[in-house]
Amino acid sequence: MKIVDSKTAMRRQSTAWVRSGEAAGLVPTMGALHEGHLTLIRRARKECRRVIVSIYVNPTQFGPKEDLARYPRPRAQDLALCRQEGVDLVFAPENLYLPDHSTFVEENVVSQGRDGASRPGHFRGVATVVLKLFNLVRPSRAYFGQKDAQQVDVIRRMARDLDVPVKLIVLPTVRDRDGVALSSRNQYLSPEERATAVEFAHLLQQAAKRKNNPAVWLGQELKKVSGLKLDYVERAGDRLCAAVFVGKTRLIDNAVVDL
Ligand code: AMP
Repeated sequence: MKIVDSKTAMRRQSTAWVRSGEAAGLVPTMGALHEGHLTLIRRARKECRRVIVSIYVNPTQFGPKEDLARYPRPRAQDLALCRQEGVDLVFAPENLYLPDHSTFVEENVVSQGRDGASRPGHFRGVATVVLKLFNLVRPSRAYFGQKDAQQVDVIRRMARDLDVPVKLIVLPTVRDRDGVALSSRNQYLSPEERATAVEFAHLLQQAAKRKNNPAVWLGQELKKVSGLKLDYVERAGDRLCAAVFVGKTRLIDNAVVDL
């Protein structure tokens, strides 16, 4: 497995693979890999001649009061997991931005509301870094999780609008046995907070089965949970989406509504 930390080396390798017709699958991550990420990697391994995992905690998608500095970075463990999964190359740059970087990608419709409203500038950071990764890695396919449903919509729209020749593959949310959606941020939770996160996950699943106004019901129920602060509940297409704060940790999740 190659480990590449410079843009130049990444570009050299991706150009060689494009020239030799070796289709690459990219799994973009911020590291602290868990089964959710591994599911994406395994699918890429099945479908692509080359599998590239990027590990980059992208500063432009974090707000000034968010958890950029404390975001977990278990590098050795991440590399071991990638090696186990037969990844060809890990792209783990220290920094992807020049000091005078001044160009950003802004999607202006699907990035509105929900996380776009609660985290101003977040999707601009996401769209920018994902386009940079697409340009550096030149994948034919890129793999994303449905857990970040709005992120998928933003990236899909960005790739369509800017004519990026990549096929997006979106896979279902992987959950722990207690129902909580796997997330690198779950590590922040104390045992009591974990119990609250379980309640959040259960209420979301229950709400998704309700015929009448699942979003209204979920909002009411979440407000009753102690130790939980509701950020938003919103129906988006066939999905019921919610974000909450459990202590200082912000958790998001979504479920397909039973119609
Ligand atoms: P992150 O490292 O959190 O930025 O996530 C990298 C990719 O993994 C994104 O496409 C996420 O949607 C996806 N992902 C994160 N958590 C899960 C999960 N529990 N199930 C499936 N995919 C996930």
